Amino acid sequence: MKFVVGVDDHDSTKAGCTTHFSSILLEKLFLKNCKISELPKLVRLNPNIPWKTRGNASISFIVDCNISLCELEQLVSDTSEKYVKKISMGYNLNRKPGYAILEYDKYNLIKDKLESFYERAVSDVIPLDLAKKFAKNNKILIGGSRGLIGSIAALGFDEDYTFELLTYRKIENWNKDRDVDNKSIMEADSIFFPKVVANYDYFKNKPLILSHGRDPVFYGLRGIDPEILIKEMNIIKAKEELDFFMIFKTNQMTDPHLKYLGTRYYQTTSMKIKINSIRIMKGGHVIIEGGYSEMLVIVYRESRELNSLAKELKRGDLIHVSGAIKPSFNNSKILEAERIEVLYLNDQINEIPLCPICKRRMESVGKDKGYRCKRCKTFANSKTTKSISRNITLGLYQSPLYRHLTKPIYLNLSKPEINEEELINNILSKMIKRQDRYVSTMVSS
Ligand SMILES: [Zn+2]
Repeated sequence: MKFVVGVDDHDSTKAGCTTHFSSILLEKLFLKNCKISELPKLVRLNPNIPWKTRGNASISFIVDCNISLCELEQLVSDTSEKYVKKISMGYNLNRKPGYAILEYDKYNLIKDKLESFYERAVSDVIPLDLAKKFAKNNKILIGGSRGLIGSIAALGFDEDYTFELLTYRKIENWNKDRDVDNKSIMEADSIFFPKVVANYDYFKNKPLILSHGRDPVFYGLRGIDPEILIKEMNIIKAKEELDFFMIFKTNQMTDPHLKYLGTRYYQTTSMKIKINSIRIMKGGHVIIEGGYSEMLVIVYRESRELNSLAKELKRGDLIHVSGAIKPSFNNSKILEAERIEVLYLNDQINEIPLCPICKRRMESVGKDKGYRCKRCKTFANSKTTKSISRNITLGLYQSPLYRHLTKPIYLNLSKPEINEEELINNILSKMIKRQDRYVSTMVSS
């Protein structure tokens, strides 16, 4: 019988990762002769939620097994519990792992509803109660706690995708620093870019692919073709022996959060702004004040090119800004810019006129009453208009430091012809054949 399984929140600040857990779960099902014919999906949810863990990712996959729904649930919940107890230590660290399971036939019947749930999870905040009610009404088997929200959302993802290949470390290395030959990353980047992205930060001269902290991920490679990701993996030289790898289909780098916009806190929004003023703060952040909205836009220094662009904007320019709505210190809304499209550049500025006789700046007589030279009393009715040259051009600007969901401007989301069934079966076959399966046996019954 065919099932769809979603899992989430199997990581913690100490160890573990939901993608790692899902790979081990797939391995376990593969060993039980379940048929797996598609790559698992890695779904990133609303990037603006402050209480998310590192990446706010959940996983879903389809399996065809010779067991009942009840038996499958037992297996998933058992493996989940062992993983969280023995590997991620998540229960002690306030993690709330969860899962969601559904028969494939039923899944097809409620696909529209699941897709709406996913859309909401990627663009808004879904309360636990609502997720539980949704599961009950749609007869989705759920378990665990808050993680069930992401688990259900992962079932509903069926849109544009890219791929991520994740490599995992052997358990004895989890506490060690990650060491990789940087040259090999740059070499792979030079061969495969732009089919692979975000490999290396040439500005800071350090790799972008490495995971941080004590989670089992060594590195993640992102791109639009899984075969190329495998070639890239074979070029990159990690300075330790890795445990296994997995490839996921993912909503990363496809802009899903920009499809479903809102106006509440932690939603992503998008708006046109005619600029009133630009303020550059101490530290380099830029505040943009606009004419159509009371919401201030902040462009953080860390956004590099986007921040440099913002510093060049002037009163009268027209821009289209996309970003996250966050509460500011006085509880009003601010918009954290993620992308700016420059629609119009004002190349004229109005200035207080110079006295034609004394060549000194005149002074205002009063609001709308004109200007006068203090020395010779020469009078002018209005400001003078002056043409200025601009250092920027119209177009789309965004930070080179991508958030997971943001699509790089140059990325072409074409779908390669691949045999997913062959690919996932090769990966799992390699996984079960590895000599040291210590991590996998830790969560086996
Ligand atoms: Zn004068």
